[in-house]
Amino acid sequence: MTNQSLRIVIIGGVAGGASAAARARRVNAAAEILLIERGPSVSFANCGLPYHIGGEIAQRDSLLVATPKLFRERFGIDVQTDTEAIEINRDTKHVVVRRPSGDLESIAYDRLILSPGAEPIRPPFIDPNLQNVSTLWSLGDLDRVMQVIDSLAAPRCVVIGGGFVGLEVAEQIAHRGLACTLIERLPQLLRTLDPEMARPLVDEFQRNGVSVKLNTSVMGILSEGNLATSVQTDSGDCPADLIISAIGVRPRVQLAAAAGLELGPSGGVRVDDWMRTSDENILAVGDCVEYPHRVLGRPTLVPLAGPANRAGRIAGTIAAGGCCAPMRSVLGTSVVRVFGLTAASTGLTAAICDAEKISYRSVYIQAAHHASYFPGAASMTLKLVYQPDGMILGAQCVGGAGVDKRIDVIATAISFQGTVEDLAGLDLAYAPPYGSAKDPVHMAAFVACNDLADAPKIVAPDSDLSGYQVIDVRSARELEQLPLPGAIHIPVDEVLSNYSVLDPSRPTVTVCHSGKRAHVAASILKSVGFANVANLTGGMSVRSLFK
Ligand code: FAD
Repeated sequence: MTNQSLRIVIIGGVAGGASAAARARRVNAAAEILLIERGPSVSFANCGLPYHIGGEIAQRDSLLVATPKLFRERFGIDVQTDTEAIEINRDTKHVVVRRPSGDLESIAYDRLILSPGAEPIRPPFIDPNLQNVSTLWSLGDLDRVMQVIDSLAAPRCVVIGGGFVGLEVAEQIAHRGLACTLIERLPQLLRTLDPEMARPLVDEFQRNGVSVKLNTSVMGILSEGNLATSVQTDSGDCPADLIISAIGVRPRVQLAAAAGLELGPSGGVRVDDWMRTSDENILAVGDCVEYPHRVLGRPTLVPLAGPANRAGRIAGTIAAGGCCAPMRSVLGTSVVRVFGLTAASTGLTAAICDAEKISYRSVYIQAAHHASYFPGAASMTLKLVYQPDGMILGAQCVGGAGVDKRIDVIATAISFQGTVEDLAGLDLAYAPPYGSAKDPVHMAAFVACNDLADAPKIVAPDSDLSGYQVIDVRSARELEQLPLPGAIHIPVDEVLSNYSVLDPSRPTVTVCHSGKRAHVAASILKSVGFANVANLTGGMSVRSLFK
């Protein structure tokens, strides 16, 4: 096949599809490239949709990142919007599409790239005819939501689902000054975090006027005519003028499955490291495929924009006849903002390790995002999860500024199969307005290294302390604010002069606010002969999150 005759057809014109199309053109100036999109727009910023609700992205047009005109004029790509691919005929290498008129047409391809994305799960109790109930997955969804908001003076909004999209939507509704209730079936928001790490998000929502109902299942929706009036839950009804359902997505694999392409164990299209499906002429990328997970070592669904864009670039290269490095495995690294808090994570949580029966250890630190003496330092809680041999498994961070940076650094270390020792030795940029000479990443790694070296050992923040001699090394004022009944109080500066009042033969735990001063105290006690002394990792600040 000469370049002249190569015809690349791409189904789905947003994250993965648009990346693939532009890359294919950069690799091959002569190929004929067709981008087929069933919606009216290509390359729109689906990640930006929630921020138009709150007005942070003021203009809807700002969400249209690249237009069909730009694709045509700059890249010579034929963009066919409002056109849905309904069948793939692999024997004749044709795609059947439905035009806006309803007419069917057959389009030939040499290489086909599938990027149809995922579809939001629509619970059976949601009647699609209700005008004030929507998902938020497309520009059409956004327009429907905005129409309801604009048509009522003060709509009461209910968001169902405490994942990324639900959190972003709830934040933006409140940002707009509207009443909002966020309903989640599980006992926590955001399952990419362990429960205690997700706890501050609930407090932050409530501080900003959003009512959060955890452990609450939606049973149905009450309506009058074609308008929903309230959400029925197992703990009562919740009046609503606007309901946004964000309970998750599933990969769009119907076209691929009907064409006989192999699906993987997680339900996504099975692809190799160059995004080729079980048919060598068909590639697939984005939310519809499964990616190998870096830590779990098996295929997983990761419906995020980063993998979709990277995979699109690879598929575009390969389809256009070029060569490139393979797609790397993924970690599900993600970040979300909830008012003044940022929550980010990468790799495995402790909960996933438990479910997967992976042995792990974990430590917590509290740190300022830059030198604490420099004005404006924001605090963060960082949890590091690692194997007993030191291999890093994952991390979670919640706090103010700088959370994303720490998670990205740790994600990079995990990608290169780093250990906590590697993390402790990273040479990171530092000046007081940006960080600390010992960055929070280093601090977490130091604590993990101490843990593995038993120098001294640590105990989990939710441990039952009843069998221990507990030494609380905080100040008297801190004790008043957050008491720890049954503990012996010796402020950290008095441990060296006062340890003789303690029993060195008893198992001993030291406690402070964050674990830092308690580590100093535990180290002193260990060096003066306490055989069994440990530090409560994360201190009282993390212990209090386990309520
Ligand atoms: P999409 O970008 O969804 O594109 C698929 C396109 O294919 C759609 O336009 C669809 O109309 C079209 N299509 C489907 N079937 C057909 C067919 N048969 N024929 C023709 N066209 C078809 N990810 C992040 O990493 N960070 C975020 O902050 C983030 N926020 C998000 C917020 C929202 C509200 C949403 C909706 C998503 C967010 N995501 C985020 C997820 C991210 O947008 C997706 O992972 C990414 O867009 C997936 O790319 P894709 O190409 O697989 O699918």
